Amino acid sequence: GSLPGWQDVDALVRDAYERERDDRAGDVARYIPSLATAVPDQFGVAVVDVMGGAHDVGDAWTLFSIQSISKAFVYALVADEVGHDAIGERIGVNNTGLGFNSVMAIELNEGHPMNPMVNAGAIATTALIPGATAEEKWSRLAAALSAFAGRHLAIDEAVYASESQSNDRNRAIARLLLSYGRLDDDPAEAVDLYTRQCSLLVSAHDLAVMGATLADGGVNPVSGEQVVSGQVSRDTLAVLAASGLYEHSGEWLFEIGVPGKSGVSGGLVAIAPGKGAIGTFSPRLDAAGNSVRGQRTAAHLSRVLGLNIFASR
Ligand code: GLU
Repeated sequence: GSLPGWQDVDALVRDAYERERDDRAGDVARYIPSLATAVPDQFGVAVVDVMGGAHDVGDAWTLFSIQSISKAFVYALVADEVGHDAIGERIGVNNTGLGFNSVMAIELNEGHPMNPMVNAGAIATTALIPGATAEEKWSRLAAALSAFAGRHLAIDEAVYASESQSNDRNRAIARLLLSYGRLDDDPAEAVDLYTRQCSLLVSAHDLAVMGATLADGGVNPVSGEQVVSGQVSRDTLAVLAASGLYEHSGEWLFEIGVPGKSGVSGGLVAIAPGKGAIGTFSPRLDAAGNSVRGQRTAAHLSRVLGLNIFASR
């Protein structure tokens, strides 16, 4: 089945926004200094369907750094370049059951990064982007994420500078991967590229377009551009289902029933294959780093729009 009619979806998205608007649970991320200054009450919801129809409410066009949600789209870019088998072996597809920046997860798995949605696997994935120089790799990365969004994405220089000065842990993760022969680039360069990708500015609306591109077999439903292949879209959604919401990925799938990805700046994307995607922005997070209102909104919309992929009808 597809989504309900346009009018109905519009009303349901407004209703979801109103229902969750007054929820004040959770707190903004503080471990990256510039994220601690986020305005906690900001709240935007967007739904984009595979025909390119959009429904935006609240701060749906407010820009914020994409953070971990970049991992999903950089993975798709790299999977498109290196292929299913190579990336499946090199990066892995299993959840760690541990936090997104866990060093213990690497040690427990003899250096294997496990999956591309934790920092270790994301840095190892970024290290696989083809290119002779860091700038060439960056151009490819920025161009691919912009193609997913259907517009040019710029960097938040303040967030990039702030995280560059405070990401000792990611540098440690990259060096640890290198020591195990699990990093295919210079560790400082890989971490810098990864930090830049996390600093790209998007809105909830952009996230919905990016997600709808994966929902539509890799074709951006607004621009019409084939950004990645259908196979890569399927693979990326499978990876998100297993690991998109950190160590709460099982609970997310159990409650919401679609692949999704969150980030520590408060963004969230939930993707319904063949139908469309929900993008939300609300900076207050739970203990795992997932937006509280974003999860609640996605749960509500998944129910009323009939998105759960495990439902038989
Ligand atoms: N740039 C952040 C980091 O590497 C992203 C974390 C996230 O959104 O989960 O710590």
